[in-house]
Amino acid sequence: MAESTFMLEVVTPERILYRDEIQFMVAPGIEGELGIMKNHAPLVAALNIGVLRYQTSTGAAKRMAISGGFMEVIDNGARVLAETAEHGDEIDVLRAKAAKERAEKRLEVKSEEINHARAKMSLQRAIARIRATEKPI
Ligand code: ATP
Repeated sequence: MAESTFMLEVVTPERILYRDEIQFMVAPGIEGELGIMKNHAPLVAALNIGVLRYQTSTGAAKRMAISGGFMEVIDNGARVLAETAEHGDEIDVLRAKAAKERAEKRLEVKSEEINHARAKMSLQRAIARIRATEKPI
């Protein structure tokens, strides 16, 4: 299978989260999911808050949570620059659930003092993190 792989790099301002050969990936593009395989045409895309799914060179299905950013595909490499990103297995689910509840409560309050746009983003990050911890079907 090695001949059908390409390089995925996921970088945040804090760290290089991932750098390895993969077989396939699906990224949360602003205008819908973006599936990438080897020899994909060059591409630059803005990413949503969501889950990035990929298949490693040995065929394991993995997920990470991404909180928005950009993806560039060029020369058989995909590079994701994300504001934050976590591997599914390093996510603290209880923390994400608590963040989800906090954001939901804020969104229920009709007050000028609540920044609804900020609460919505926080809710989306929490949902993406919870989804990234779920086992792929
Ligand atoms: P919280 O309210 O729980 O801090 P948040 O959405 O405000 O959530 P961010 O500002 O997006 O958090 O992230 C801050 C840092 O914490 C980043 O490095 C991010 O990767 C990490 N992080 C956030 N939530 C989790 C989580 N549930 N498990 C592991 N790391 C997390």
